Amino acid sequence: MNDRQPGSTSEALFERARLRIPGGVNSPVRAFRAVGGAPLFVARGEGAHIWDADGRRFIDYVGSWGPLLFGHAHPHIVDAVREAAASGTSFGAPTEREVVLAERICALVPSVEMVRLVNSGTESTMAVVRLARAATGRPCIVKLAGCYHGHADSFLIKAGSGVATLGLPDSPGVTPGTAADTLVAEFNDLAGVETLLDAHRGRVACIILEPVVGNMGVVPPSDGFLAGLRRLCDAHDVLLVFDEVMTGFRLARGGAQELYGVRPDLSTFGKVIGGGMPIGAYGGRRDLMEKVAPSGPMYQAGTLSGNPIAVAAGLAMLDLLDDGAVFRNLEMRSRALEDGVRTHLRRLGLDLCLQRAGSMWTLFFQSGPVRDWPSAARSDTARFARFFRALIERGVYLAPSQYEACFVSAAHDDSVIAATVAAIGGALEEVFA
Ligand code: PMP
Repeated sequence: MNDRQPGSTSEALFERARLRIPGGVNSPVRAFRAVGGAPLFVARGEGAHIWDADGRRFIDYVGSWGPLLFGHAHPHIVDAVREAAASGTSFGAPTEREVVLAERICALVPSVEMVRLVNSGTESTMAVVRLARAATGRPCIVKLAGCYHGHADSFLIKAGSGVATLGLPDSPGVTPGTAADTLVAEFNDLAGVETLLDAHRGRVACIILEPVVGNMGVVPPSDGFLAGLRRLCDAHDVLLVFDEVMTGFRLARGGAQELYGVRPDLSTFGKVIGGGMPIGAYGGRRDLMEKVAPSGPMYQAGTLSGNPIAVAAGLAMLDLLDDGAVFRNLEMRSRALEDGVRTHLRRLGLDLCLQRAGSMWTLFFQSGPVRDWPSAARSDTARFARFFRALIERGVYLAPSQYEACFVSAAHDDSVIAATVAAIGGALEEVFA
């Protein structure tokens, strides 16, 4: 049990943090606004576990929001970071490892013929949209409600993740001009996308989406949706961009595009390819990527891009993917978790909607199915908040929002999964008593 008494170290740290950091956190999703209380301040992590500032241990399903496919402090990645750091933390000049990482990404994701490294997912999506506009000479983009693509202005319109969690319709500071260039359709609504493309014929540069959404909770594409988008893009001469910042190298070696057999023109990546260090990447068709400076006119740059430590960590992570059993094991563990939770739901007679794609899952507090943002928004978030707190008391740390994915890692072994399932059973009993 992990009862958090008032006066915990996390609470004291949060009090201090709030005086000097907006909301006490450096990214809104870390705050416990939607679930109540002070966020856990993390002291360390190892494998599937984290320890808070009071030394209490939790099974971690946040996993730094997706990068940690092999859990915390994997020795191969820690060694790579240590070794790289000892040779210098940044040069602002090319290094051999960057070439190797670019080659590996291209080898793993066939639609990616060239790739540019950046420092975050936000940077990758911001740049890819500029590239799509530069390549097509068109101003508008189509995004899908509930998808989150980072915090650049163009994407803070019907965004998922923290924007949805905090109930912000948009963000002040985004100009009406920018907002007008972002057209929004619903996820899984091919007809809606087609209507938009027809209405704005000749003005749309690209459609950007999470091919499997993680940022309104896990919402997989319905049969034929991604292939349908590909057909629509071809018919309207619009670029198809998959934001695989979350799904890349996690749902399969080649990401969601491998799993669903749909080839986008451009893709964005992050998270896993940095092994937990700050990184992002965008890449795709050679003819498009050659428009990026200095080979082409579309300007995009970065002092720390291709940082040697981040690249070394990313390469070490991709080394671990060479083990052919990784995705089979992740699927097995994630399925065991799903089966265990479903058993409790049946036992308790609860009609809750568990959605899973590989190692990403969300238990929606509603009967579902959740296919898009309007259906996701029907969840009972107050009940989710109680569930979250009941799990914290049982030593399990989920994302502190209904509208997020939980991540299973290769370090979540059978005993960790069994302990999670038991905790979830107990938490559900408490919340629905
Ligand atoms: N795209 C997707 C699909 C994401 O999930 C995220 C972050 N959760 C981003 C972009 C933004 O990445 P970052 O937070 O590294 O800027």
